[in-house]
Amino acid sequence: MTEAERQAALDGIGAEVAACTRCRLHQTRTKAVPGEGTAATEVFFVGEGPGFNEDRQGRPFVGQAGALLTELLAAVGWSRDEVFITNVVKCRPPENRDPEPDEIAACSAYLTRQLAALDPALVVTLGRFSMARFNPGARIGQVHGTFRRSDPNSGAPDALTYAMYHPAAALHQGSLKATLFRDMDGVPAALLEARRRRSDTAGTAAPAAAPVQPTETPAPDSADRQAPAPELTQVTARAPEPAGEPEARMSAGPAAGATVGSVDVAISVGATAESEPTDQLSLF
Ligand code: URA
Ligand code: SF4
Repeated sequence: MTEAERQAALDGIGAEVAACTRCRLHQTRTKAVPGEGTAATEVFFVGEGPGFNEDRQGRPFVGQAGALLTELLAAVGWSRDEVFITNVVKCRPPENRDPEPDEIAACSAYLTRQLAALDPALVVTLGRFSMARFNPGARIGQVHGTFRRSDPNSGAPDALTYAMYHPAAALHQGSLKATLFRDMDGVPAALLEARRRRSDTAGTAAPAAAPVQPTETPAPDSADRQAPAPELTQVTARAPEPAGEPEARMSAGPAAGATVGSVDVAISVGATAESEPTDQLSLF
């Protein structure tokens, strides 16, 4: 698909969402919130559902949690318009209650179609409802800050999924804010790994499983962690020390640089890997 075709597909989905009556949430919404960002991106953020401000404006993550998400992106040198941001349900649950399973199911096809249109390399899940779609059975306390292959039924079978806590959680529990920033630091390296796997597997069979290298201190139930679900490929989210010449030594570009492990990453989100110079990682 060309970028224009991707954008047209996104616009079409957005128009359908705006008029959707497939679940009860349409009765109480002010505006549906399809999502926003660029059709050219490789990085796709998925939250839970619109809150008060999002419902008013028809845009995702524009309240306090959104301000924190914007800060998190800035911390790795990215901006909102270089990624795509959406939610598991596109209409606000009344009183910001959790979305119900039947609402998530009713809305699922829109997310599937958005993923098909963008074909992102990396999905970043914000919170447990989003994580449950891409890594069902995972526990956020264990997997936040790490990436693994997306569930085949998630709509993004060729993407890696990187799990993060929901930014709103840090508004209630201040200690999570530092965790969110630490986890965000691992996102650019996850993108590099996602790209590497996609280029490795282009036209070939399924990739071999990567070694298990948890980055986080194991949670109290560390027994689970030592025996991860077999379908999950659990790898470190941190960039390994490059052996010899790094595959991508990213010089500081126009975007702010973010340090990932020992590799300086200057990322401007967008174009394809094939077209970029080998000494600079650019998302476009
Ligand atoms: N929380 C979400 O999950 N999504 C939004 O768009 C805003 C807040
Ligand atoms: Fe339609 Fe999704 Fe809104 Fe429900 S939440 S009305 S399925 S767009």
